Amino acid sequence: MRIGIAGAGTAGLATAWLLDPCHETVVLEGRGDLGGNARTVQVRVGDRALCLDLGVHEVSDQFPLWSRLVRSVGLGPDPLLSVPASRTLQHPGGTRPYLVGPHTPDADRDREVVLGPAWEALGRLGREASRWEEEDLGGEVTVAEAGDWSTLADGMENDVVHALPASVFGCGTHDVAGLAARGVGGFFAAPQPSPSEAAPMQSLKGGTQELARALAGRLSAAEVHLRAPLHRLEAHGDRFAMVEASGRRHLVDAVVLAVPAYAAAAALQSLAGCTGLRAALGAFTYQELVYAAHLDPFGMPEDRRHWSTTNVTVHDGWSESTTWYGPGHHAEVFVSQVTHRGTPRHEVARAAFHAPLPTPAAHRARRRLAERREEGLYFAGAYTRALDSQEDAVASAVDVARALAPESPRLAQLTNS
Ligand SMILES: Cc1cc2nc3c(=O)[nH]c(=O)nc-3n(C[C@H](O)[C@H](O)[C@H](O)COP(=O)(O)OP(=O)(O)OC[C@H]3O[C@@H](n4cnc5c(N)ncnc54)[C@H](O)[C@@H]3O)c2cc1C
Repeated sequence: MRIGIAGAGTAGLATAWLLDPCHETVVLEGRGDLGGNARTVQVRVGDRALCLDLGVHEVSDQFPLWSRLVRSVGLGPDPLLSVPASRTLQHPGGTRPYLVGPHTPDADRDREVVLGPAWEALGRLGREASRWEEEDLGGEVTVAEAGDWSTLADGMENDVVHALPASVFGCGTHDVAGLAARGVGGFFAAPQPSPSEAAPMQSLKGGTQELARALAGRLSAAEVHLRAPLHRLEAHGDRFAMVEASGRRHLVDAVVLAVPAYAAAAALQSLAGCTGLRAALGAFTYQELVYAAHLDPFGMPEDRRHWSTTNVTVHDGWSESTTWYGPGHHAEVFVSQVTHRGTPRHEVARAAFHAPLPTPAAHRARRRLAERREEGLYFAGAYTRALDSQEDAVASAVDVARALAPESPRLAQLTNS
């Protein structure tokens, strides 16, 4: 078959890789580059060229499909970097952060850990989130309904339970209470944290876009078109025409929409019988997030002894992070969310993204998408699953490959542990 794939993010490219060479594929990507939310920029710092991730930058070491995919595409013998997931939480202008979590191995020998009520709140969030997972709490129950936060010290519900998810999803801290507990908890489920040790996260040494490029480079029966946004789908007998914004058409036997929900809804505009589908896709809400890479310590605590890998500033109903590249890359380089705050003095790159919010309405829409049965039309992308993560983007591609190419050797390679 000839299969059209819209979107060359992790989900679209993993789908193309899994279908190759069982089927011919034609991939249409709207931007001028591969990777979607995985966007790596090269920055010169002194005599070094560093790969900085503006969007996707870390993955859990509990992501089995993603890890197997990285191994399968052959990114070199040792492509991963382990980084301590240490966290600092602060208010702007505060003389001292109210949380400086452990960081191992120590970034600085005289690092000062600050625990106290925020540490207790972080532990509670992790334990509650683990319980939500164990009890398989449905997507209808909100963060406010799922946990009793009243016994936390003053301010900790906002500054920890709401602020941390707000910095992940880009929403206001006041929006978090209404998000689906299960969708939020997936990012924070953890046993009681150790006061002396930070959990490790991993990242790709060459940046996360490296995976996208490697996937595209391993395609043998595919056409990949950049700057080729899918404008609409048309029925063409029992086939589909994928019509680009430029008017160029591609005839295919099946279509995989691996674009954000709003772009999928727009592409279905002129396809008969898709009103319910478009309504479901319209129920996903997205939040804008702007990231900047910079060389000055914008967003970092004043006292270097309080620096962590991730430094979250809670301000004016928002909460925004600054990632320090010191721990993994030994470089004084930072990547900050700057959607609602000022601009770093020495900015070297910037990019804007849209992140889907895990709302109860999105959960219901996801169920409707999974239940629908349109011949030849498939949906992939992290938003089609409970968590917006690299693992879920790959898992969504696996679901499509199971339907379209169950005999794919690459599918077997990825799913047989
Ligand atoms: C800022 C940010 C940071 C993140 N950080 C992490 C992280 O550290 N770790 C993690 O696991 N997850 C992270 N995520 C979640 C991330 O979204 C997923 O990990 C994953 O990258 C999603 O892949 P995707 O292919 O589903 O979607 P996307 O990456 O959004 O890819 C969709 C692609 O479709 C293209 N497109 C859109 N419209 C059209 C059209 N009409 N025609 C053709 N192409 C189109 C887009 O240009 C894009 O390339 C982050 C998300 C954001 C927004």
